[in-house]
Amino acid sequence: MRYLDEFRDGDLARRLADDITRIVTRPWAIMEVCGGQTHAIIRNGIDQILPPEIELIHGPGCPVCVTPLEVIDQAIAIAARPGVIFCSFGDMLRVPGSSRDLFQVKSEGGDVRVVYSPLDAVRLAQAHPEREVVFFAIGFETTAPANAMAVHVARQHGVRNFSMLVSHVLVPPAIAAIMTAPRNRVQAFLAAGHVCAVMGLRGYPALAERFHVPIVVTGFEPLDVLEGIRRAVRQLEAGEARVENAYARVVTDEGNTAAQRMLAEVFEVSDRAWRGIGTIPGSGWRLADAYREFDAAIRFDVGGIRTAESPLCRSGEVLQGALKPNECPAFGTTCTPRTPLGATMVSGEGACAAYYHYGRFRAAAPTA
Ligand code: SF4
Repeated sequence: MRYLDEFRDGDLARRLADDITRIVTRPWAIMEVCGGQTHAIIRNGIDQILPPEIELIHGPGCPVCVTPLEVIDQAIAIAARPGVIFCSFGDMLRVPGSSRDLFQVKSEGGDVRVVYSPLDAVRLAQAHPEREVVFFAIGFETTAPANAMAVHVARQHGVRNFSMLVSHVLVPPAIAAIMTAPRNRVQAFLAAGHVCAVMGLRGYPALAERFHVPIVVTGFEPLDVLEGIRRAVRQLEAGEARVENAYARVVTDEGNTAAQRMLAEVFEVSDRAWRGIGTIPGSGWRLADAYREFDAAIRFDVGGIRTAESPLCRSGEVLQGALKPNECPAFGTTCTPRTPLGATMVSGEGACAAYYHYGRFRAAAPTA
């Protein structure tokens, strides 16, 4: 297949689902790690054409959702400072902090701007040498190379009024945390194809072996997701636990080595807190010592902020696959995209937003 619409072909999708039905002999729980895959599943009703033995568990792979409340509050505090231009991708603006969001800061006169690339923020800093320009650098391995490049470029051009508030998270340590959680039910993973496009398969074979869990690298179109599920079910039924690349049109074993070099120069691995989940050892990147002067958290001294999460929001359970969004009592009532209590209802990749936008208001009846 060469064209996008071929990966959305309904007849082929049904044939793949029939194939999965033929293979499966007992219940299996498979986690799609990435929020983009969650949206593909809910938007296309993939979970509804699968045999009842297959349960899809939605994973924590939404960068907006897992950015810790503390970092959101730091962003809000920095953005509210006079003389600052705070730059972010658009979906971070409505993520609730402890008492307000970045939109409110903007409405109160803060200079909060939506940019489409971290390099836009560097250019803004060059154009406004009298201001401090801060870029909100969040996300998984996918977005990190462009952010690393922006810091590198700022250093090269001597742009001293540019800094980044960094909250980057890494997928493999999160998979290990899920597998060692006391309530874990996940038996196989669909790994996020775009993360592997950058990092290759690095880290995944060791996870598959350690936890005896199949990991299938999967894309984002309906047929990609179904093919990932088919391969995962085949392994589960055969008692195998390997890494398989079902997204070979984008992902190579070694990934993007130029991007990896840039990441290694600018960032270093650190422990990282995940919103709703807690701190996962070695699951994040922070600026390396040589680039620490570009760290906005240090430059603006916002380390000691106290946070207050909504007591009603259960997004931590949603992000760990322990609760479906429509099983949360606030879903669709006190919590909607217009009145979000948690980031999972705000983000374009959030599981609660997917359930809301595609009309999944009722929890599925339990299977026998
Ligand atoms: S529906 Fe709203 S309150 Fe419930 S978990 Fe999702 S974001 Fe939180």
